[in-house]
Amino acid sequence: MTAKIIDGRAIAQEVRAEWKVRADELKVRGTTPGLAVIIVGDDPASKVYVANKVKACAELGLYSEHIVLSADTSEEALLKKILELNEDPKIHGILVQLPVPKHINSSKVLDAISPEKDVDGFHPMNVGALATGSMRFAPCTPYGVMKLLEKSGVLIEGKHAVVIGRSNIVGKPMALLLLQANATVTICTSKTIDLAKHTRDADILVVATGKAKMISGDMIKPGAAVIDVGMNRMDNGKLCGDVDFDSAKEVAGWITPVPGGVGPMTITMLVANTVQAAEQLSTLKRHL
Ligand code: NDP
Repeated sequence: MTAKIIDGRAIAQEVRAEWKVRADELKVRGTTPGLAVIIVGDDPASKVYVANKVKACAELGLYSEHIVLSADTSEEALLKKILELNEDPKIHGILVQLPVPKHINSSKVLDAISPEKDVDGFHPMNVGALATGSMRFAPCTPYGVMKLLEKSGVLIEGKHAVVIGRSNIVGKPMALLLLQANATVTICTSKTIDLAKHTRDADILVVATGKAKMISGDMIKPGAAVIDVGMNRMDNGKLCGDVDFDSAKEVAGWITPVPGGVGPMTITMLVANTVQAAEQLSTLKRHL
């Protein structure tokens, strides 16, 4: 079997076009969705991620503010900036690029973002809402994975989904979204005994470990949908995923490449969440 390649770039374009229609409708009614992205320090990878987020906003005609703070910015100063943005009517989504420097408590920072503007979906209220099935904003990467599955025609209900990884950013919300879509969900971690036993039983396998090529074709159930979230930089400078693409594609039914799979969807869903935040805030304003 040779897997169907899930083209994340093409699906991202399709999803962005859908959200552009909603953004344009808002603009006609006088609201331009606005995103503020804060970066503290000058981590090169973070700078690239932030630049791509700002670019995606511009492509959809959204307003964006790119706020660059020096690495020695105090926690207090960062919290003050967030509180200002919480009150700013031009801004509907606020994102603080992680990681922040060590002297800043990232939980305090995420808690300070207004839950209505928390387009990353990391505020405890939004995490709780996702866990109780009344989601407001899904974290962008797992939300993007759900869109990839939906747009590729992969059935989820009743299927066995195995998620490898339990981070707050990817693994845990991924498992919750799959559960909400009526999959039977297993979560594996570094402490799982006999990982291959679980992966070979997965109809849908989502891998988010940060361990290059750790899942090989012999660990995959024939015909499974394999979603590779991993982004690992190899010695030759190229990116590779957590799945060994060459052996996996011979067994899987669907597979995402790296790059060009999950990556483009993460930014797309951030833009989607920003438009959704603007819709919700403008409706709220109309009812005040
Ligand atoms: P974390 O390091 O926070 O979490 C990794 C998880 O993988 C942990 O739960 C860990 O288990 C588990 N794990 C590690 N090794 C193994 C193993 N051998 N077997 C089973 N489980 C294992 O990473 P993130 O979730 O933040 O990111 C994961 C990957 O996804 C990274 O490569 C990252 O770059 C990428 N990523 C890509 C994005 C995109 O847009 N494409 C966005 C976000 C992340 P334990 O908890 O026991 O330690």
